[in-house]
Amino acid sequence: MTKLIDPFGREITYLRVSVTDRCNLRCIYCMPEEGVKLKSHSDILRIEELARIVNIASGLGITRVRLTGGETLVRQGILALVSLLSEIPGICDLSMSTNGVLLSKFATRLSQAGLNRVNVSLDTLKPERFKRITRHGKLESVLAGLEAAEGAGLSPIKINTVVMKGVNHDEIRDLAMLTKDHPWIVRFIEFMPFWNNGWKFGAGYVMPISEIRNEMIARGAYVINPNAGENNQRDQAGKGPANYIKFPEFKGSIGFISLRDHICSNCNRIRLTADGLLLPCLLSNISVDLRTPLRDGADDGFIAGLIRKAVSLKPENGEIAQVEVACSGGNPSLSKIGG
Ligand code: SAM
Ligand code: SF4
Repeated sequence: MTKLIDPFGREITYLRVSVTDRCNLRCIYCMPEEGVKLKSHSDILRIEELARIVNIASGLGITRVRLTGGETLVRQGILALVSLLSEIPGICDLSMSTNGVLLSKFATRLSQAGLNRVNVSLDTLKPERFKRITRHGKLESVLAGLEAAEGAGLSPIKINTVVMKGVNHDEIRDLAMLTKDHPWIVRFIEFMPFWNNGWKFGAGYVMPISEIRNEMIARGAYVINPNAGENNQRDQAGKGPANYIKFPEFKGSIGFISLRDHICSNCNRIRLTADGLLLPCLLSNISVDLRTPLRDGADDGFIAGLIRKAVSLKPENGEIAQVEVACSGGNPSLSKIGG
């Protein structure tokens, strides 16, 4: 098997699979209140189609898969999908991003189906604020989901917090303190300019992640992965766009993710949208359609060729500007691309 290597020498080993564009929340930074225009059910890849693509990708060297959305746990057949993917021999890390609302119902069965770990979105520990940010959700359901995930042995648990100045930045300390007693990884994500949510990159809501990190280091946290570059650290599982610190004696650690950091040179991932477009880069509008050939009866070799083609089109650097252009055209938000 020839590995998936892009024209800039990056080996692609990580596939993010969006399983739905639907969501049970409407987070203010991700979706407008009325929701987004949804794809028709027939356009969304079926469970067997998703599993087939991952199987073919695994034959090309994809070893890590993250399921995402929309909200992953509202997808019908999600347990069956996890089960199918966990049986693919080459996939050694199978994870899921979720808003956690339904996690307490699913955690045990997800673990039994073969899921390794979860990333749970959590932007606040205040119930009222949670309702304001998500427009629909109840904080207690997410906290119950985290507990259930821990009980089910999904590990490590990562918590994703989008930091917004004037919205939740005053809770950074409290959220970071979750790592004192739990072996969780709390990751602070800089708000990104997706979707026409009325917020612009660089506007007052953006809180530079590096400031938070530096302040924590000044308060005694230490860098866990000192061998990687300042803005381009590898995450603990591979080459992700996060970098990590830890307070002595704390069980968990704290990560930082910012699109403004130069993450492209380490990028090892491609994304599959729920309707079957393979995107070589989150910050570009290049895509390769897998659904049409799949439904036209293409064999595995042909689909493998299309995956290689997408990798060959991966740009050296993504452009945030491209995303803003895409957004103003009513195109992708992270909920559509699969965050
Ligand atoms: N519904 C799941 C969830 O919320 O975790 C999975 C999909 S969601 C699109 C994936 C991640 O994207 C979440 O952690 C969310 O916080 C993040 N996200 C969405 N819009 C964002 C934005 N404008 N800036 C930064 N992160 C964003
Ligand atoms: Fe839904 Fe996740 Fe987007 Fe929130 S961030 S609206 S939970 S897809």
